Amino acid sequence: MSQPHSPATLVVGLGRPERTPGASVGPSVEFTSTFVRGGDNAYARFGNPTWSAFEEAIGTLEGGSALAFASGMAAVRAAVDLVAQGGSVLVPQHCYNGTTSLLQQLEDAGRLSVRRADIADTSAYIDAMDHVSMVWLESPTNPMLEVAELPTLIKAARESGVITVCDNTFATPLLQKPLELGADLVVHSATKYLSGHSDLLLGVTVTTNPELQQRLLTSRTLGGAIAGPMEAWLALRGLRTLHVRFERACDNAARLATRLAEHPVVERVRYPGFGAMIAIEVRGGAAAAEKVEQQVEVWLPATSLGGVESMVERRRRHASEPVTVPPQLLRLSVGIEDVEDLWEDLDQALSSSRAS
Ligand SMILES: *Cc1c(COP(=O)(O)O)cnc(C)c1O
Repeated sequence: MSQPHSPATLVVGLGRPERTPGASVGPSVEFTSTFVRGGDNAYARFGNPTWSAFEEAIGTLEGGSALAFASGMAAVRAAVDLVAQGGSVLVPQHCYNGTTSLLQQLEDAGRLSVRRADIADTSAYIDAMDHVSMVWLESPTNPMLEVAELPTLIKAARESGVITVCDNTFATPLLQKPLELGADLVVHSATKYLSGHSDLLLGVTVTTNPELQQRLLTSRTLGGAIAGPMEAWLALRGLRTLHVRFERACDNAARLATRLAEHPVVERVRYPGFGAMIAIEVRGGAAAAEKVEQQVEVWLPATSLGGVESMVERRRRHASEPVTVPPQLLRLSVGIEDVEDLWEDLDQALSSSRAS
């Protein structure tokens, strides 16, 4: 039989030990700081077999070589460190705010310069690529859910010889594979959909470029932002169900988006037409939006996304969020619960946000 390619089969089968008689069917967790000399592993900051199993799985799904990092931000940091001293990075105006804040901090320190543009405006984003050292891509964007024309943007960046990095956290490799489109590097917060249970932090980089892979490995080894073996093991275990979790969450999101568009308390729905993230603007401003957060009983009022549990958050409660994000915007991370229960809960919370 030829190698299976369907993601539903891959997530179940990848990263397992060889099928030898008596072998365990899944990898075990290697809790060790070092290894007996003479084998493939030397010291556990350089590599750990539990990471390797997870990396094999994500690498195959994205179509490149993966490295696990301590968190999504550790992976983002390692990617940004590829920019030479004094270089510049083009970043979407709306983007994961940890990425935005990190770049701002590096710019303030004189390490690099930052250029911002609207990633949904393809020609403006391409124009802004002129003379930058790295093009950062995120689509759909957090929390505005703008969608970028990735094939066109990646092609343009390649033609000008710029390193392209795509944060693929929101779409996952099930919906979008930036490396196949020609991106140099994919980063993920595996904290979100990939692990899927809101029980760990983990990041990952994936690339097809051996030189970048080597530089990222050096960065991880010497920077020390390594994953815990338990986190890597849990993430691989969570990944086994990515396909069914994500399918259900996306289906729930599509149904909710349609109903939310009709809701009298909802001014605007931002839903890209795919994925499991929705943003809504609530009538009555920030106070009404916060009332919704307080009234929900099934949805969790919490930051983060991509878990089995549905979460809601007014993003502008964070001072780091750009002022172009409406104060009344609620970001919804749709989980895998029964869609009718999710709807009823949201509907009652929205309706009661009106009465005060
Ligand atoms: C959460 C997130 C990150 C950061 O990941 P952590 O695991 O929290 O460090 C980066 N990018 C996106 C799009 C995210 O949602």
